Amino acid sequence: MQELLKRKKGLHRKVIIVDDEFIQREMLGAMLSDLYEVDFAENGAVALEMIRREQNTLSLIILDLHMPEMDGYSLLSVIKNEPELSRIPVIVLTSEREAEAKSLRMGASDFITKPYDMPDVIRARVSRSIELAENSIIIHETERDELTGLFHKEFFFEYGKMVDKQNDYAPMDAIVLDVNRFHVINELYGRSYGDLVLRRLGNFIHDIVNGSGGLACRSDSNCFYVYIPHSDDIDGLLNKYTELLKKIIGDSKISIRIGACSDDRTELDMEQRFDRARLACRKLRRTYTTSFSIYDSVLHDKELHSERLISDMDRALEEKQFIVVYQPKYDIRGDKPILSSAEALVRWKHPDLGMIGPGEFISLFEDNGLIQKLDRYVWSETAANIRSWKECFGHSVPVSVNVSRVDIFNPLLSEILTGIMKTAGLENGELLLEITESAYTDNSERIIDTVSSLRQMGFRIEMDDFGCGYSSLNMLTSLPIDALKLDMKFIHNICVSPKDLRLVEIMIEIARLLEVPVIAEGVETAEQMELLKNAGCDIIQGYYFSRPLPPEDFAKLLEKEKENA
Ligand code: C2E
Ligand code: CA
Ligand code: CA
Repeated sequence: MQELLKRKKGLHRKVIIVDDEFIQREMLGAMLSDLYEVDFAENGAVALEMIRREQNTLSLIILDLHMPEMDGYSLLSVIKNEPELSRIPVIVLTSEREAEAKSLRMGASDFITKPYDMPDVIRARVSRSIELAENSIIIHETERDELTGLFHKEFFFEYGKMVDKQNDYAPMDAIVLDVNRFHVINELYGRSYGDLVLRRLGNFIHDIVNGSGGLACRSDSNCFYVYIPHSDDIDGLLNKYTELLKKIIGDSKISIRIGACSDDRTELDMEQRFDRARLACRKLRRTYTTSFSIYDSVLHDKELHSERLISDMDRALEEKQFIVVYQPKYDIRGDKPILSSAEALVRWKHPDLGMIGPGEFISLFEDNGLIQKLDRYVWSETAANIRSWKECFGHSVPVSVNVSRVDIFNPLLSEILTGIMKTAGLENGELLLEITESAYTDNSERIIDTVSSLRQMGFRIEMDDFGCGYSSLNMLTSLPIDALKLDMKFIHNICVSPKDLRLVEIMIEIARLLEVPVIAEGVETAEQMELLKNAGCDIIQGYYFSRPLPPEDFAKLLEKEKENA
């Protein structure tokens, strides 16, 4: 490509004239040699050798059809069937109509008729063929992704729509392939390994679309789109792809999720099909094996529900439909459990849909950034409550709020939090921040910076859902945190599974090493509580003590604590 551009800037282009008749060669050469660097070959075999040798710098081949050794047709066929040579335009020299048509069908870009009595016309044809070929290479390269050779997204949609039109809107299927946790692969194994994975995936996708009448693109770094004629058995097809991919990628640490929208009717346009395929793909977000999901009516209803929640969100904030409930945390180190803090958890009291739990909307709002508004609201409500309890009971009960991974990317995060605390007339140390462990592993550098500065400003940090985010021990020791909160799923089975209990003990040992207290959440029974206490757990949160409570009820609990103290 660079070679070509250099030549575009005025350097001589090279042309080969292939003809067995000396006079003809010389005549053509004379017409072109002031404009081009001209080489000659007296038959197809000699020419092919030269062409192979100079394939990267050659701008045009002028080819006689009738020659000994290897004739023009044979040479043309070789050139047009070899990918490395096929970009070189070929002008054919003929004197028969029949031959013109045949050579154009075989891939010649133009023809020149003998005898050569109009030099200007010949020069114009030569220059036009070269220019067309060079432009098409430039177009090819701008519309395609360098790493995989697949289309860029914009061109993909452009051509896809053309395909739809040309096929009179025949049914098509949309497939989205996404490499799970690709940034982690890049970070752990290096960029070149990441590139290798993408190239393999790219080749696989080339094979799918080649000859199918479909097309494909790399949409963003680790995501691919495939648009192919509709299959009645998309399940079977994706099953086949899944098995093939496992073999092709050949690395069990790497998995791909595939989402598809199989459309046997033609009510949707290309973009809608991909919206749906993407949605199906997103559904697999928390799976880490190569797997697929097909858009269906269940997903469709879910999508409508999600859209409804998104569009109702602003109004809900204005009308204070979101309510914050508080689940107490008990310090169990002494003889008697002591209420030491609480976690603020959000609920949505929707006027039409009733009470909605955060499981239904948190990840939805994380996907589109709305979570930042909601979290800010929850933090403010919480700060206001901490303040009123402080006034009421004469001492501050620290409360933890959840900080979404999305909040971490807001450069104004610490300003927002400090502002909220100031407005409530509180110190930063009176608010605890829960940040999920997987946010640390997904983007460790960024988060370590953010969290360190938050701590310097006085906020205390609890690492939430510990045990699920695959932190390395090495990383843990450099993390700025004030408490570890064990993920609930480890607590569930500690009474029946010695292995789970052992895991919890190990996590508690890690916390000792880091010199931070351990919080266990999701504790439901006295038996679990005893085991945790014996294992050295410091703080307990769970239904065993209390469900999350509305602020009035939490205040009553504080009142009772005060009386019992
Ligand atoms: P999480 O931070 O891990 O919160 C703990 C969840 O466990 C809460 O569910 C809580 O009600 C539940 N839980 C507490 N004790 C028990 C128990 O003994 N047994 C069982 N089975 N469950 C228990 P919830 O309130 O539904 O919250 C779910 C998740 O939603 C939270 O998980 C948190 O990740 C997210 N979330 C909740 N509120 C907010 C918020 O204001 N902002 C953000 N960003 N996320 C929030
Ligand atoms: Ca939490
Ligand atoms: Ca948690």
